[in-house]
Amino acid sequence: MIDQRARAGAITDRPPVIRPSIVPRRRTPGDRASDSAGTAIGWACPACRAPLAVDSCAGCGRHYPAVAGLPDFRLRSDRYLDLPAERAKAGRLAALAPSTDLAGLAEAYYAMTPDVEGRRRGFYLLHILDAEARGSALVGLLSTSGRVLEVGCGTGGLIAAAARAGLDVVGSDIASRWLVVARRRLDDLGLSAPLVAASAERLPFADASFDAVVADSVLEHLDDPGAAVTEWARVLKPGGTLLAWSPNRYALTVDPHVRLWALGWLPRRLMPGYVRWRRGGAWPPPCLSAGEARRLALAAGLESVRVEPPAIPEAWSRARPAWQRHAIGAYNAARRMAGTRALLRSFGPLWQLRATREGAA
Ligand SMILES: [Zn+2]
Repeated sequence: MIDQRARAGAITDRPPVIRPSIVPRRRTPGDRASDSAGTAIGWACPACRAPLAVDSCAGCGRHYPAVAGLPDFRLRSDRYLDLPAERAKAGRLAALAPSTDLAGLAEAYYAMTPDVEGRRRGFYLLHILDAEARGSALVGLLSTSGRVLEVGCGTGGLIAAAARAGLDVVGSDIASRWLVVARRRLDDLGLSAPLVAASAERLPFADASFDAVVADSVLEHLDDPGAAVTEWARVLKPGGTLLAWSPNRYALTVDPHVRLWALGWLPRRLMPGYVRWRRGGAWPPPCLSAGEARRLALAAGLESVRVEPPAIPEAWSRARPAWQRHAIGAYNAARRMAGTRALLRSFGPLWQLRATREGAA
């Protein structure tokens, strides 16, 4: 997810009040460790890589709790909330979830996140409701067999699209509060998929666990994107595919996080000061260029690395203002022509990275 994560916001909330009748059932990795073919997911300790026995590590003895009924393998929290506050927020959302739907739960989220002002809130809500259309576009690029991990699955738009398409999909996100919303989305659709709270750089899976790893607008939110790509390559099976979309650093459009033109053209060290001046302290996720993304994939040992300007799905632009729909239409037309396609690879609004882990499929 892009924007709602970027402005998930600090909170000053009270501890959660969860009535016993609606405390969710505790789930553990072992609860959902099989796919339709009966292949168990290989769970491994994100700290020491030893195999995980249900919710504790046989190697380092670390205990992994459940939060809001979801396995929590985080070693640290995201940049917006510390772990106790994050778990509290997830708990409050989980308490509301049984009595509402996806849209209601997303609205409840922003009602308890007052630092996101009204206009932005509307945009983020639209983004959440739109997420399955965008997810469908990525799912359409994946093979229809094997097990897929989405890193940074947010509110689960892609997970829903993948589950609907019959894929064996697992979702992870650093924010358990978003996973609670994702679970509501799946429940609304009568779908299910394992969802785990985990850091993108330290995943709770054994080596070579997945046929594909997907990451939509995740790399720019990480402190160490290189470590993350290396970690994603680790959990890919030989011959498995990494598929990532992210906003392009050198896009000739506004930065999607802080709405500033050509932010990415500044030297990185000047970006925080510029954003503070223009936007009053918002943290700008440092978008990567197509070339930077390509170098990370190669450094992680991935092969057949291709970075392209992806087609933006019509369904995704449907709910957008007219000028954006026209801009997206023009972009899609331009990317079909060889000359402008090369320009869009460098300066388009987003890039698609596809790479393969070496070895036989
Ligand atoms: Zn361990």
